[in-house]
Amino acid sequence: MERTYAWHKYDENTLQEVFALGDSYREFLDNGKTERECVVQSVAAAEAKGYVDLRDIIKSNTPIKAGDKIYYTHMDKSIALFNIGTDDIELGMNILGAHIDAPRIDVKQNPQYEDSNLLFWDTHYYGGIKKYQWVAMPLAIHGVVVKTDGTRIEVNIGDNENDPVFCITDLLPHLGQEQMQKKAANVIEGESLDLLIGSQPKKGEEKEGVSKFINELLEKQYGFVEKDLLSAELEIVPAGKARDMGFDRSMIIAYGQDDRVCSYTSLVAMLEVDTVKRTTCCLLVDKEEIGSVGATGMQSRFFENAVAEILTLMGKPNSVSVRRTLENSRMLSSDVSAGYDPLYASAYEKKNASFLGMGVVFNKFTGSRGKSGSNDANAEYMGFIRRVMEANDVTYQTAELGRVDLGGGGTIAYIMALYGMNVIDCGVAVLSMHAPWEVTSKADIYETKRCYVAFLTADDETI
Ligand code: MN
Ligand code: MN
Repeated sequence: MERTYAWHKYDENTLQEVFALGDSYREFLDNGKTERECVVQSVAAAEAKGYVDLRDIIKSNTPIKAGDKIYYTHMDKSIALFNIGTDDIELGMNILGAHIDAPRIDVKQNPQYEDSNLLFWDTHYYGGIKKYQWVAMPLAIHGVVVKTDGTRIEVNIGDNENDPVFCITDLLPHLGQEQMQKKAANVIEGESLDLLIGSQPKKGEEKEGVSKFINELLEKQYGFVEKDLLSAELEIVPAGKARDMGFDRSMIIAYGQDDRVCSYTSLVAMLEVDTVKRTTCCLLVDKEEIGSVGATGMQSRFFENAVAEILTLMGKPNSVSVRRTLENSRMLSSDVSAGYDPLYASAYEKKNASFLGMGVVFNKFTGSRGKSGSNDANAEYMGFIRRVMEANDVTYQTAELGRVDLGGGGTIAYIMALYGMNVIDCGVAVLSMHAPWEVTSKADIYETKRCYVAFLTADDETI
């Protein structure tokens, strides 16, 4: 089947837009290396566009009507935005849903130990990573430390150019003969992913001198003590900014593009669309990389609860209205796809792979071993999607994650499908997915944003 290369259709003005979106996206990545940082940015952007906190609306018991713009955060790690349309909300919403968590390395609750005058923090990795990719590179620490009195200390060390960075060491090749014989999965063991955080002892202290020195420094400089790590969420992420890639600057290399590339484009599309017939919604959620579990993951009821609150303030305080609204909704599960990589050609089936520069990717299904665990979108919905994309001249492609029986993956699509709504996976093709530095094409980012705008504004009369 013929495919089109998005770059060919751009005139000078459009090219400027493509690159400008790439610039603002890089900024979003640099300011959002954790789910919490992404929520902070999303709230600021939403408020600047007139969005109001649902909790304030509930408190003042203000009726909700068409044209209202509302956001709802949950535990500072997930956010839902709503733009109330003129249609009856029970006819359904147009929903974009992406995730703002990314694979990384988390600091354990009791992490600190000193060995041979080196001070380490022990870790437990989060999400699917190739552990050998995370050693011998500069790392940053982002997150929060919460003290027993409830004070929350924001931690963000390693991304300002004057900050120190951290590192997980690797063995020198000279002594690596045994290590190099191991399987890639075991070259670096999970328990060896320990972060080196200091080496200077407190003056005159022979025993645990480095620990004492760093503990005093932490208290003085950051306001917490070692024991406070018991109630901390510290995420170790690659240090450094997102960068333009290639002589032509056509690509972006950055940490966390799965799935902040779809989160950012979803957010931009959501805030760009002003007056709507069908209510629009943008969901940015946590915990997708570990199965969408927990209070802030998609399996949590927080989204359904927010919809119920909104419907109550619209004069529909009953669960049937909530069910109708959700079942009649349609959704793009905005998540990344595995871009075809000629260096690893055998992992893909080329007719059903996504290619960089060929636009937004639709995955009718994900899953593994016979589509297991997948939300398989139906042909009718796929037909609808094609109609919306073609009416809006969006360059799109369809793909599977890779060769049949090789592996697989999942998204939040199947969870939203539990409400009986139409859902399909849709996002940007990524190279080196889940690596510390992932690669995307600026043309795909641009087409994905256009796709999301087209989807949000699709109402039943215009399509
Ligand atoms: Mn993802
Ligand atoms: Mn992922």
